[in-house]
Amino acid sequence: MFKFLKHTGPKTKILFVAFILVLVPGAVISYLSLQSVRQKADNLRITYNGTVNLVRDKLENEVERLQSNLLNSVIEQPPGSVEADSLEEWISERESENPAFRHLFLSNNERGIITSSLSLAWNDIPGTRPSVNPDAATFFNMAENAEFISKDYPEAIKLYREALASASSSRERALILSRVGRCYIKQRDYRKAIQEYEKIIAPGNNEITIGNVPAQVVALSQIADSYEALGAYEEQYNATIELYELLLDRPWDLANGEYLYYLSSAGEKISKSGVSTNDETPGENNIRDLLTREEKLLEEIRFIRLIDRDILPEIESGIRQGSSSELQSHSISRELNDSIIKLSYFKLPATFQDQQLQVLAYQFDNDYILSNMFPNILASVELGKDVLVGILGTKDSLLYIQNNIPVSEYLVAGDFTGQLSGWKVALFDPGGRSIEQITGKEKLLYLILFAVIIAVMLIGIILMVRTVVHESEISRLKSEFVSNVSHELKTPLALIRMFGETLDSGMVKDDADRRKFYSIIRKESERLTHLINNVLDFSRMDAGVKEYNFRKEDLVETVRSSLETYKYQINDSGFSIESELPGEPVMLKIDRDAISQVLLNLLNNAVKYSDEEKYILVKVWKDSDSAMFSVTDHGMGIKREEIKKIFDKFYRVSTAETGETRGSGLGLTLAQHIVEAHGGRIDVESEVGKGSTFTVSIPLGGN
Ligand code: ADP
Repeated sequence: MFKFLKHTGPKTKILFVAFILVLVPGAVISYLSLQSVRQKADNLRITYNGTVNLVRDKLENEVERLQSNLLNSVIEQPPGSVEADSLEEWISERESENPAFRHLFLSNNERGIITSSLSLAWNDIPGTRPSVNPDAATFFNMAENAEFISKDYPEAIKLYREALASASSSRERALILSRVGRCYIKQRDYRKAIQEYEKIIAPGNNEITIGNVPAQVVALSQIADSYEALGAYEEQYNATIELYELLLDRPWDLANGEYLYYLSSAGEKISKSGVSTNDETPGENNIRDLLTREEKLLEEIRFIRLIDRDILPEIESGIRQGSSSELQSHSISRELNDSIIKLSYFKLPATFQDQQLQVLAYQFDNDYILSNMFPNILASVELGKDVLVGILGTKDSLLYIQNNIPVSEYLVAGDFTGQLSGWKVALFDPGGRSIEQITGKEKLLYLILFAVIIAVMLIGIILMVRTVVHESEISRLKSEFVSNVSHELKTPLALIRMFGETLDSGMVKDDADRRKFYSIIRKESERLTHLINNVLDFSRMDAGVKEYNFRKEDLVETVRSSLETYKYQINDSGFSIESELPGEPVMLKIDRDAISQVLLNLLNNAVKYSDEEKYILVKVWKDSDSAMFSVTDHGMGIKREEIKKIFDKFYRVSTAETGETRGSGLGLTLAQHIVEAHGGRIDVESEVGKGSTFTVSIPLGGN
């Protein structure tokens, strides 16, 4: 299967297997944990949907309950049974009993729509054509002739005043006064005109109309215009405000455009008057309030007109066709100015027919639902701290949010049905996160955890593999060492024995030869001693029991005497040895024997690893804080990558490069150990084919 591993080393194989052993379960674990995160997101979504459904059901039930409360309150107290002066008042009572609803209205066969505040009371305004009683009529008609045909205004005023004397009702008086005022205006006598109109604005004249416009409205608007003509702007402004308030307080025939005309022109004049709308004048005079009232009123008027023209005919045709059963609520929705108007209604039972009442219609008061009902219900639902409930309207606009905390994206949402259809219940995360973001953190945590586990496992495996490889390398080196050492022992022993026996036999007669044999025996036994010393020292060092005997010595002297001892052997091997030793002593604390052994080992190596150029240079010197000695040869040199290994125990550069040179692989290990025990270090500079320099530096240690 893994053919490519055939030619790789054991280290790579082990690493490969370890990788597989770590990565496969790692991948499985990470897959499973990601899967569990996904599962968690699904579970979260299910839980959230459950909460949404719960909240939605509660809200819908509450809406249903409020609706049946309204129905009961209507059925149990029909208009005739309670003390209410008018249907308007009866509706107003139902509205205050049921604050969740607004725009309650009745449809009356004769009067059309009746609401608590507005009525499209066409019939309420009597006689649309101005008329006076017969006594006054003669003067009135003559006055009109003078005003319109001969345009003799003083004459007209005189005749109107005659007619005024015979006026029989305040309605007639108001009419005639308004004519007098008009003539003054035509004469540009505004002061007098104002005087006449002011007579009309008496409190008793509330119900009076001129034509189909309330007399007070006519009077106030003329007064305001007159003040404007006089340049008396403050008075004009005050009169306009008075007019505006009157219009807002007492809307009249809405089916006719005149009311809206008066209202909007008064509103415009006030807005344009330049008086700051932020001006906090107290009470009803607060212009901002008035303008908002106008806005609301206009909205209500638009609403009622929509119902009157569009919705009511639909409801009535439904009732006529019998498709609307009694006391069952129906819903109708219409679009008005970009918003959806929703209306519910039910057919009133037969008991209401006496009063020609067919239908009761109503709207849910969204403001009440959002600011009163929802908060109360949500307070009763156990939601937990980690979510907020909100209500979304059309196009997901946020209508309500718990605790007014700003939110963005919702987690889940559920549509309302029935009365609240078009709205949604939505859950939000207080921190604005989505479900993915909520679980994302956990996902990231899993991934990091996984990466850490994998990294730790891999590091462990690499360390383990390294140790195993190192151990096996050591054991290989050890067995090599044993064979090396036995060979190293055997050669000198064989020579000593051979020359010893030769001498012993007495066959060597020549003195020179005998001396040569003795010298060989001595040299070989020295080699033997050296080797055995190294091995013994190493085993002491390895066992940690090597002891040093530090004394203040002269390094120059130590090196010189070691050289003396060894010089003979070196020269004998055909080497020329040079030394550069300082004239004065270099004193420092050393173990003299140990340092001699270091030098000996270095010299020994220089001899062993040189072939053609047999040259050795030994130097001793010092600087401010260390004493140094070095051994330089012009031998085979050491490869760069071998340099860091040659100090390892048993390590020997392979024989292919060093030839048949034998050794134990302990010389440099021992040398380094000794130098380090002196607090110093050994450095090597070497170039293959050119030679090497081993430099030992030992700190002077303040001596
Ligand atoms: P040994 O000489 O017994 O093999 P050492 O620990 O003294 O063990 O040396 C380790 C290795 O370092 C040697 O096998 C040899 O290859 C290399 N070496 C040491 N000194 C020299 C030198 N002067 N020139 C070239 N190679 C050297």
